[in-house]
Amino acid sequence: MATIWCIGRNYAKHAKELGNAVPSEPVVFLKAASCLRGLEPAPVAFPDESFHHELEVVLHIAEAVPLGGDPGWSCVGAVSLGLDLTRRGVQGDCKARGLPWTTAKSFAGAAILGPSVPLDELGDPAALAFHLDVDGERRQEGQLADMLFDVPTLLRYLATLAPLGPGDLVYTGTPEGVGPIRVGQSFTLALHAATPHQWTGML
Ligand code: MG
Repeated sequence: MATIWCIGRNYAKHAKELGNAVPSEPVVFLKAASCLRGLEPAPVAFPDESFHHELEVVLHIAEAVPLGGDPGWSCVGAVSLGLDLTRRGVQGDCKARGLPWTTAKSFAGAAILGPSVPLDELGDPAALAFHLDVDGERRQEGQLADMLFDVPTLLRYLATLAPLGPGDLVYTGTPEGVGPIRVGQSFTLALHAATPHQWTGML
């Protein structure tokens, strides 16, 4: 199965809103592939909890990158918007105890993935902007230009850890404005590109 790479603290204002220092190298974690779901309602672990939404641009790796590779955008076939669903209280407890975040980040339904848009339909991918509404209320707005580590830097860094393969996904980090979302709430993902896209889903 594909690997779901995730980047933390990749936008300075988001690092600050959670009280974290701005990192000097990418913060990387993983979600199990079985956490993936689309925009339609789907089973979620801990369905009575209030989660945090993290709106992220998700890269679809289309071409293999060898260990130590430096592919730039060339290995990316498409992008999606997605939500890195987070159990924020559990994550805070893990951080306080010096433990991995896995139970806060990797659970059924925790990797929400919108439809993919081919890279060649996006114009300049580095200029992408995006936003998230929850029940019609604007929650997050971001643009890739505000990333602390841009896409070529992230891919080069990940390839120092392991080869990347077709089907792998990279959740590239969230801008500020993370907040609560519960099962039954609707959300809209909007991608501002050469051709704008908007999708609606339900947790
Ligand atoms: Mg995230």
